[in-house]
Amino acid sequence: MKYFAVRRPVLCMFVIGAFVAALPPPAIAADALPADDAVPADDAVPADPGYSWWKGNLHTHSLWSDGNDFPEMIAEWYRTHGYHFLALSDHNILSDGQKWLAVAEVERRGGPDALPKYRKRFGGDWVETRRDPKGDALTVRLKPLDEFRHLVEQRGQFMLIPGEEISDQVGNLPLHLNVTNLRDLILPLGGRTIREAMAADLRAVEEQSKKSGRDTLVHLNHPNFGWAVTAEDLAAVIEERFFEVYNGHTGVSNGGDKHRAGTEEIWDVANTLRLARLNAPPLFGLATDDSHDYHGRGQQHPGRGWIMVRARRLTPESLIRAMKAGDFYSSSGVTLRDVRYDETARKLTLDIEGEPDVTYTTRFVGTPRGVSLEAEERVGADGRPLVTTKKYAADVGRTFAEVTGTSPSYELKGDELYVRAIVTSSKPHADPTFKGQLLQAWTQPVGWSIQKKPSQETP
Ligand SMILES: [Zn+2]
Ligand SMILES: [Zn+2]
Repeated sequence: MKYFAVRRPVLCMFVIGAFVAALPPPAIAADALPADDAVPADDAVPADPGYSWWKGNLHTHSLWSDGNDFPEMIAEWYRTHGYHFLALSDHNILSDGQKWLAVAEVERRGGPDALPKYRKRFGGDWVETRRDPKGDALTVRLKPLDEFRHLVEQRGQFMLIPGEEISDQVGNLPLHLNVTNLRDLILPLGGRTIREAMAADLRAVEEQSKKSGRDTLVHLNHPNFGWAVTAEDLAAVIEERFFEVYNGHTGVSNGGDKHRAGTEEIWDVANTLRLARLNAPPLFGLATDDSHDYHGRGQQHPGRGWIMVRARRLTPESLIRAMKAGDFYSSSGVTLRDVRYDETARKLTLDIEGEPDVTYTTRFVGTPRGVSLEAEERVGADGRPLVTTKKYAADVGRTFAEVTGTSPSYELKGDELYVRAIVTSSKPHADPTFKGQLLQAWTQPVGWSIQKKPSQETP
């Protein structure tokens, strides 16, 4: 029972089979190894681990760009708050190389306690300060990821993954793309349009990934920040497979406004255009923190949104491959014990970890086949057209069913392009991004299929 229909070419298996058959036999047959060499079941690196849910955040800022705490302090926050993985994703910079920051700047961003807290947690001998050789200002060294990761990582329990927020711009529109598990810095390439710039940045990541041999994952950040990215843009650049349905920053308009679509609607419009018009796979949705403020008065706190990835091992490639197969969900506070899609029965089932006195409402959302893709331009308060996601038929992203309780399920009727689930609990968020926010979870689209090579038509 797979999570959703992934069409893998059968040919691959034959090719691999032929290759294996051509190899010389191993010097010692595996079953001839002495029993002492067998890996005990409770070993930290088991040979055959089962599947686990791993909790992580892929969008985080530190003093390396515009965050207000030291990277190892941030890693320590996530490590001690139930997370298994974290990517520090600063703007157009990796946590790499020599960087000395004025203590005055650290205090300006993080307050007078930022440096004493750092010293207290990791010890005075770990924290390095010096007078700036060119002036007299007291500076503190920001440690590169490869240096501090050994202090906080725990095998099978907590892992840091290299990250960067490629912070591109088209005219005055911000285009931000998070890259996870990259090797070298990627500078934004820009373009005449959002689509051109997005495609160029994606190509740069793909090229590096091929060269480095690392699996990387790109996700489009906060589409509504600066009202920069429309659903039609997200549909058209079919190489983009991931975007943020929920970003914990208070300035990114997850919910849209009176004249513009929120991220839920953007997701459904983009998925519909991809499946109905472009024969391209749908987008998968992430929740992230986009945290900047770990102390002081700033509002961009950690812990608001995360992903849960189902994989056998806590390694970057295991997680990224699971995400590319759609085996993850996003959360702002609702935990799922299980989410599964039975391809034969065409049934999507969730198992919600319920809390006492909390109720859960699950909406199964999608678009029926054959829906009209005609759309109207939206207009602003002044009556002039807006460059934003257009208004589509009510059937695009409609609610197929609404179910209460902790074991909701939906059986597809057969005329759905795709179905996804949004769970909303009755419990308010303890540190909300917007007024009245309730805890939620989002699962990935299932029940979809693509029949042929995607076309290049632009919606
Ligand atoms: Zn951003
Ligand atoms: Zn960011």
